[in-house]
Amino acid sequence: MSAPSKLSNDCFALPAGVHWTPVSEALRLLEQRLQCCVPVEQSAVEDSDGRILAHAVIAARSHPPCANSAVDGYAFAGGLQAGAQSLQLRDGRSAAGEAFKGRLLPGQALRILTGAALPGGADTVVLQEDVRIDDGRLQVTGPLKAGANARAAGEDMQQGAQIFPAGHQLRPEDLGVIAAAGLGEVSVFKPLKVAVISTGAELRAPGQAARVDQIFDANRPMLCAVLRRWGMEVVDLGIVPDEAAAVRAALDRAKDCADVIMTSGGASAGDQDHMSAVLRASGGMALWRIAVKPGRPLALGVWGGVPVFGLPGNPVAAFVCTLIFARPALLQLAGAGFQVPQALHMPAAFSKTKKAGRREYLRARLRDGAAHVFASEGSGRVSGLSWAEGLVELPEAAAEIKPGQTVCFLPYASFGLP
Ligand code: AMP
Ligand code: MG
Repeated sequence: MSAPSKLSNDCFALPAGVHWTPVSEALRLLEQRLQCCVPVEQSAVEDSDGRILAHAVIAARSHPPCANSAVDGYAFAGGLQAGAQSLQLRDGRSAAGEAFKGRLLPGQALRILTGAALPGGADTVVLQEDVRIDDGRLQVTGPLKAGANARAAGEDMQQGAQIFPAGHQLRPEDLGVIAAAGLGEVSVFKPLKVAVISTGAELRAPGQAARVDQIFDANRPMLCAVLRRWGMEVVDLGIVPDEAAAVRAALDRAKDCADVIMTSGGASAGDQDHMSAVLRASGGMALWRIAVKPGRPLALGVWGGVPVFGLPGNPVAAFVCTLIFARPALLQLAGAGFQVPQALHMPAAFSKTKKAGRREYLRARLRDGAAHVFASEGSGRVSGLSWAEGLVELPEAAAEIKPGQTVCFLPYASFGLP
């Protein structure tokens, strides 16, 4: 797949007359307008955790490659009828990696170890604990089904079969599956490069000296870590003050070194909201007032052909918008396709009166089979993000939620986060 052309400036434009975009509509527009923007490379299987497959993976050989034994015991043909009987024990054995060369005749048995190829003529293995050896004969008691304790060739994976589709993001267990299917390399997309910028005159880097009217930049460490968990490459461009020239310079630096730009702060339409002002002045900006709490507004822009996600500065809103809007969009750009989280339907452990009109996300966690929400909905309470283990999603309609009523819980894990 070749890297597509730069985005046009009107890429995020909203239909005329739209003021409050519903979440589902915002997601639909993002899915429609973004496409994979990263080139393909080869990667050794052992280095491919977290990488996104550019092509489907096809099994290079069957697994297991030949019929083999699932236990330590004795191989023979055809299973056993009920009752005591004996088999002639052949000399030699079949061990893992040291297959027996000969062929068994009917009525013969051979010592076999776990993982060893079944000798020709055999299809069944009796457990060593279930036999006795007398005078070179194996004493066994049936019944035992033909094929017992044996693994058939290709019963797990067939040579030539697709084992993963393009777009799948590889996990540790997948690397085991790919190696087992006989592949040493896979075609993956180069990691999406995301430039991260915090804006705000009040911000200080974590650990710096700060006056009482200054605050620490909570968004950058959080957002950079989230992006790395998603397998993306982070370019940390630090803090930019609330000045148009500084914001422009930072966006210029970002577009030269990244595939996408993620900023936080200054995204709405106030005097100090230079991110949205600068993007708007460049002609490449749509301020999406999404009907969501926390989070609106989200500034979506294009700077020199590079998409810009202008997140709200508030850390709770920035985090929620990153999970709900930026994640599917970034994964689409990264080649994994647009992804929505898998919800759990859980009884609420809380009461809430919700107004109509916007979708709400509450910081939540599961305890004793029910969804509990953080004591405060104040979106300045950053500690609630760590208290939570996911989000409760309340749909747009007005609702009177009572304990025991079913709500949608989206675990952080469903966003690819621990
Ligand atoms: P803004 O979106 O710039 O209007 O910021 C909204 C609120 O979030 C203000 O209280 C800011 O001080 C705060 N804020 C903005 N950026 C950050 C950041 N990087 N870390 C922590 N708080 C922030
Ligand atoms: Mg600000």
